[in-house]
Amino acid sequence: MVMVDVPKSHPRYESLMVREKLVSGFRGGAVACEGLIAQGRGEAFDYILGERTHDAALKAIEAAACVLLLARKPVISVNGNAAALVANEIVKLSELLSCPVEVNLFYRTRAREEAVERILVDAGASSVLGACDDAVMRIPGLEHERGKVSASGIFCADVVLVPLEDGDRTEALRAMGKTVVTVDLSPFSRSAQAADVTIVDNIVRCFPLLCSEVRRLKGFDGAQLRRIVDGFDNEKNLSRMFIVMKDRLSLVASGGGLDG
Ligand code: ATP
Ligand code: MG
Repeated sequence: MVMVDVPKSHPRYESLMVREKLVSGFRGGAVACEGLIAQGRGEAFDYILGERTHDAALKAIEAAACVLLLARKPVISVNGNAAALVANEIVKLSELLSCPVEVNLFYRTRAREEAVERILVDAGASSVLGACDDAVMRIPGLEHERGKVSASGIFCADVVLVPLEDGDRTEALRAMGKTVVTVDLSPFSRSAQAADVTIVDNIVRCFPLLCSEVRRLKGFDGAQLRRIVDGFDNEKNLSRMFIVMKDRLSLVASGGGLDG
């Protein structure tokens, strides 16, 4: 439910609508107060990116799609922000990959688990892991609430898609031997640095693109997918994103305008 009437003519209409989705997720109990602040950190980086999906992000999206298609047991990890922003795409992706979605919260409370689960079910998810006493296993190295995961989900997954994740938890999943795919507008974050594949883009732009890539690459055989993954270097790709930011800042600093 949209809380304020933002005129379509407003130059920041899209961005304001995204904020409204988060605010309504917050009011419905799915988004943590801290989640609203996290969005602000992301937006600052998005401004530098010119709020668009760059070629290096498209490369990461392609690699992410291949990694997910090659996985034996992929799982999509969902927090309050992700549910509030892209619930339909999360469900679409889980259908395309025939994989579970799991509620996985940094600020875990029973009420928030249920609110996130409800958003996913309303978006069409047939089953949702990780809520209502399902998260009985632990990620080693993380204290109690932050380490809880589902026995049939993240705990036994080989590949986990964890958008907008905290760095500690990303590192802990890597330490468990899992392949981690993340979405993070900040290439500086520990999540971005620790993941196997980092999509530096806004989740609202890249999730629809990730669905399309999975659909496109579904017909490829394992060897073809593996070749694409082998040709992808996350460290180099992150460097490309830093260069995009540096070039945009240089352009603006030299009076080149904000549209370049
Ligand atoms: P880390 O813990 O990985 O070092 P952090 O502490 O800077 O990261 P967190 O709050 O733990 O940040 O994680 C949230 C991350 O999600 C931030 O890096 C932020 O840039 C990113 N983020 C927030 N909103 C979005 C969004 N809509 N799309 C993509 N990324 C986002
Ligand atoms: Mg963090």
